[in-house]
Amino acid sequence: MTPNKMMYIDPHIHMTSRTTDDYARMSAAGIVAIIEPSFWLGQPRTEAGSFKDYFSSLLGWERFRASQFGIKHYCTIGLNSKEANNEALAEQVMELLPLFVCKEGVVGVGEIGYDDQTTAEDKYYRLQLDLAKEVGLPVQIHTPHRDKKAGTIRSMEVAMEHGVQPHMVIVDHNNEETVKDTLDRGFWAAFTIYPNSKMGNERMAEIVKQYGTERIIVNSAADWGVSDPLSVPKTASLMLDRGISAEDVRKVCYQNALDAFGQSGQMSESDWLQAVQVDQRDKFSDNSILRGGQEPFVGERKATGQIEDNIIR
Ligand SMILES: [Zn+2]
Repeated sequence: MTPNKMMYIDPHIHMTSRTTDDYARMSAAGIVAIIEPSFWLGQPRTEAGSFKDYFSSLLGWERFRASQFGIKHYCTIGLNSKEANNEALAEQVMELLPLFVCKEGVVGVGEIGYDDQTTAEDKYYRLQLDLAKEVGLPVQIHTPHRDKKAGTIRSMEVAMEHGVQPHMVIVDHNNEETVKDTLDRGFWAAFTIYPNSKMGNERMAEIVKQYGTERIIVNSAADWGVSDPLSVPKTASLMLDRGISAEDVRKVCYQNALDAFGQSGQMSESDWLQAVQVDQRDKFSDNSILRGGQEPFVGERKATGQIEDNIIR
């Protein structure tokens, strides 16, 4: 990777499934802030309490873990499309959401939308659009992997039907097939860069060359599957190598995510522009990220520089 001093935001990453090594490498690569959407955990939950604890951990322990590597952690709260299909459970989760969406550091309702485009998915997507509108938060939309184009268009049409303005909606997992429809309608178009996949970083560079940088956002969506928490900085390096200007790279790998989710009023550059103090002696509910006599890092993580060496050793 070409070393550079850019700052990055990864606005879609599931750190609950990742390790401290990932945090250390992300910090060293210049990622200053991340957004963790609520999502499906790989197997269905059976109790509403599991959702409650999961939302609490996104606001608590996970935010603390990120802070121990000098990274600002935000999240979006919502009922994912897959689990919307368990209607008895979905009803209970809907009752929990209002208790969480207005908490500090929640920058949107997400990730919500369609998976198989079932009736239940449609019902809970619509209810959550109304919730987002009521509390004035942006919406982070997961678009389906099957029948993507139709599902993406449907997601946008339903959002507009519910009076949610396009500038308040980040449509995720776009590709060449959907980007034009998303941008033409005035929505934010986010792209997930998975390793060894169709939507790789070479094709991302081509999309930026073709469509420009307005309302285009790059993310990793790294989770418990084969994915790469460094997708954003790696794509940025590749774009620079392909002759895309540093200013344009900054827009799609930093500024646009900030502008989109900053509409929540919960995320601002000042959160990380001042040098961030990292003290790994800190604890969260009596728990530390350190093990067996490890040397804590105590020092500054400078916004545009790399975190001190010893934090990642
Ligand atoms: Zn996701």
